[in-house]
Amino acid sequence: MAKLLTKRSPVRARPGALMTIKVISFDLDGTIVDFNYNKAFWDEAIPHLYSKRHKISLEEAKKIVFDDYKKLKQPDDARWYTPSFWFQRFDIGSFEDVAKDLAHHVRLYHDVIPSLKTLSRKFKLVVISNSLKEFVELKLEAEGIGRYFSKYYSVLDMFGGFKSPVVYKAILKDLGVGAKAVIHVGDDAEFDYFAARKAGLHAFLLNRGDGPEFLDTNATNRKVPPGNIIRNLNDLKKRVENL
Ligand SMILES: [Mg+2]
Repeated sequence: MAKLLTKRSPVRARPGALMTIKVISFDLDGTIVDFNYNKAFWDEAIPHLYSKRHKISLEEAKKIVFDDYKKLKQPDDARWYTPSFWFQRFDIGSFEDVAKDLAHHVRLYHDVIPSLKTLSRKFKLVVISNSLKEFVELKLEAEGIGRYFSKYYSVLDMFGGFKSPVVYKAILKDLGVGAKAVIHVGDDAEFDYFAARKAGLHAFLLNRGDGPEFLDTNATNRKVPPGNIIRNLNDLKKRVENL
């Protein structure tokens, strides 16, 4: 393990910290995969189905659907994130086949595969996503990235809500490791940084500069220490080496 410490910084590195890390946990959307798939599903496929079902133009359908998304959005309401709720509400059938048909829209960020390749040699990698199992599974099929992860957690399915300190603690128990053995990284300040930190995990907030979540959470008063913000997963590799 001592070999993991970089030659450049033997004095600054704290050997004990790195020795204890066993698991690196990743958020999925905005961290591993970009928002292309979600846009294709929520902003294109659903309005398209609505326009066909209710025999109106796509433009009109988009207006109705997007207004409804906006109107019903509540921070704690898990239904809003559940496609079956919307497919039922709009009377447009079932979502499973539609979700699968759009799989070619899943896109990985360019730094994902090289980072996972390196990190998976030293650490157990897992995914913790707020998303539904169906979405997590099809996204992890992209370019075969599923093989780098030993486990995934679909929080919405398993816990009926979103990432919270309680959820992280339950996942630690399932993994059989202590909080200090895990680093979590993700692009949402609340779910991926503050909730993970509250549960005692190491955490990094990923700001790739393309996600709506980061902008939203910037509006809150709580600030993430700049040293715990990374711009991409290559940064994560460096931070892990220097922990
Ligand atoms: Mg995310």
